Amino acid sequence: MSASVETSSGRFAFRTIPEPTPTPFRASSDRVEEAHPLLAIRGLTKSYGGLDAVAGVDMDLPHGRITGLIGPNGAGKTTLLNVISGVERATSGGVWLNGEAVAALPQHRLASRGLVRTFQISRELGQLSVLENLLLARPRQTGETLTGIFARAGRVRREEEAAIEVARGALLKVNLWRLADEPASALSGGQKKLLEISRALMLSPRLVLLDEPAAGVAPAMEAILIDTIRGLADEGVDFLIIEHDLDVVAALCRHVYVMAAGKILTQGSFAEVSSDSRVVEAYLGVKA
Ligand code: ATP
Repeated sequence: MSASVETSSGRFAFRTIPEPTPTPFRASSDRVEEAHPLLAIRGLTKSYGGLDAVAGVDMDLPHGRITGLIGPNGAGKTTLLNVISGVERATSGGVWLNGEAVAALPQHRLASRGLVRTFQISRELGQLSVLENLLLARPRQTGETLTGIFARAGRVRREEEAAIEVARGALLKVNLWRLADEPASALSGGQKKLLEISRALMLSPRLVLLDEPAAGVAPAMEAILIDTIRGLADEGVDFLIIEHDLDVVAALCRHVYVMAAGKILTQGSFAEVSSDSRVVEAYLGVKA
């Protein structure tokens, strides 16, 4: 492996580092809180002017599940994900992560508790290498304050080395390690989705929120993406996934919530919700 990266304490080269045996991603905290659902949402509302994009949503995500969130365009799915993940502030209602009220927390504090939302690789990030993208996704480090850089140089270097190890593990996990030196912009649509997921892994997540992971992904890569998400779920990372490709939802999600006009229309297994006439009606805009 010949990946390398320039950091504040020098250039790291990996040519000589043997690839580690991938180890399971440990969730950010133990499973002692399993008395509570991983995520509980009550009466969550997000209004824009007169429009309730999310209108009193209740949701429970037990531990150890991949949950789907589907619904027609404009149903409020992305807004719900943004509010849960601290990208936007709820107008009213509550969110509990492992029993802790988190509705008012900003993104980085939610991430430190294990709740992480993925984002598309922006044009700026596309110019950086795959590995650099991961290093930028890590939590705030000692050296990122001026005092930290000068007073704790040794510690900074150790933190960077540790971050590179975690990044290596994350890239091996999504099978992108061989592309660690490539610019992110050179990746295919599906590889970019894997990169987004591996960026989330830098934060040791318990719950990853994915917005349309299969959008723009070629069919062959879709199967790889599904396998990767399943593999991570087997290792203790739960997912809440918005997806328009219902084959992907059927393949991945044990439980599915259906949203329409800001509300939860119904929930159940994919087979249950897809045979519900209200769901067909919401998608088609006509009575089934
Ligand atoms: P899609 O599947 O098409 O992505 P969605 O289910 O994710 O749709 P949202 O994007 O959450 O739906 O949008 C829900 C409603 O809220 C829409 O009517 C949308 O126009 C509106 N909306 C979303 N964000 C804003 C905003 N920042 N300001 C005003 N209205 C917004």
